[in-house]
Amino acid sequence: MLTLVGAALAAIPSWTLVGATLAAIHSCLVRWTKKIAAKAAPTLALIALLTAEAVFADWYSDTQPIMGTRVRVELWHEDPAVAQTLLAAVMGEMRRVDQAFSPFRDDSELSELNRSAGGGWVSVSDEMLDLLVKSRQVSELTRGAFDITYASVGRYYDYRARQRPDDATLAAALEAIDYRHVELDVRGGRVRYRHPNVYIDLGGIAKGHAVDRGIELLRVAGVSQASVAAGGDSRILGDRRGQPWMVGIKHPRSEDEMAAVLPLVDTAVSTSGDYERFFEEDGVRYHHILNPATGDSARDSMSVTVLGPEATFTDGLSTSVFVLGPEKGIELINRLPGIDAIIIDAQGNLLFSEDLDELN
Ligand code: ADP
Ligand code: MG
Repeated sequence: MLTLVGAALAAIPSWTLVGATLAAIHSCLVRWTKKIAAKAAPTLALIALLTAEAVFADWYSDTQPIMGTRVRVELWHEDPAVAQTLLAAVMGEMRRVDQAFSPFRDDSELSELNRSAGGGWVSVSDEMLDLLVKSRQVSELTRGAFDITYASVGRYYDYRARQRPDDATLAAALEAIDYRHVELDVRGGRVRYRHPNVYIDLGGIAKGHAVDRGIELLRVAGVSQASVAAGGDSRILGDRRGQPWMVGIKHPRSEDEMAAVLPLVDTAVSTSGDYERFFEEDGVRYHHILNPATGDSARDSMSVTVLGPEATFTDGLSTSVFVLGPEKGIELINRLPGIDAIIIDAQGNLLFSEDLDELN
């Protein structure tokens, strides 16, 4: 279940007015902290004994540029050497995922698939198959708003070079966008494309997957309080020494500002924004989230944040809701148990899915 602390979120009346709501967030945190303290009381003596042993227990963190973004890992551990090993292991895992799924590396498994699957069946790793199956689930759930074959057109955009496909290229490549063109032989571990011009990209889901892998690695190693973030995709394990973790949603039009700050425990959270990679031409913003139906950027929102138990799905869903637009997007999220969303629409209004709205 998604754990969002108290009413803090819904207490934010407008994304331009975060400062004014600090008092409300504070009162909510106090309420939440009391609840934790009451639960913890009988074990306090035990904790005192343990901390006498664990003199080095502390927060350990590392930040590295991986997957074209900033990866940050933070964890609580009693042994500094083990903590450093774990930080390095998570970063290593992130690099491994990048190596497999990057469209920018010719030697990635993804690039190999794109080169060969148009010509017939290609054997893939279990991890690739798993991510393709999950991508298909998100596509089915969103009636194709999420579609990894978007890249059949997406490959012709270069946001840094301010390039986009001309009308003829767009029209021809649009035919190749359809997640059903990617045929999966799950038992045989094989994939083939049913259309010769299909090109896939897992950029809408792979960072979430990497974050889930990082958290799983830490959990298995016995860590109970940690956060792993890759750009806009984060997942939190446990709380932060009796407090919630505070996760910010970037202000979509002001780089150093937060639109909202969410107090969270044990949750994954992903934000998709139209400000990450874009250029403007004649007042129109061309950015990296494409509507698979048109091959053009989706423009009904500025930012979509999705909360849920797993980063792989919050990542895929944040991209999906961005494409669907606020109305259809909220409708979808309200149908999914344990999943919530916060949308900043094209006019800058802050919208919440039902569960969050009820906290108001
Ligand atoms: P980021 O954290 O990179 O901004 P998002 O979760 O916002 O990621 O997803 C954007 C990325 O998703 C794009 O860079 C692209 O790789 C991919 N993408 C864009 N449009 C779609 C779509 N309609 N379906 C699936 N993936 C998409
Ligand atoms: Mg996403």
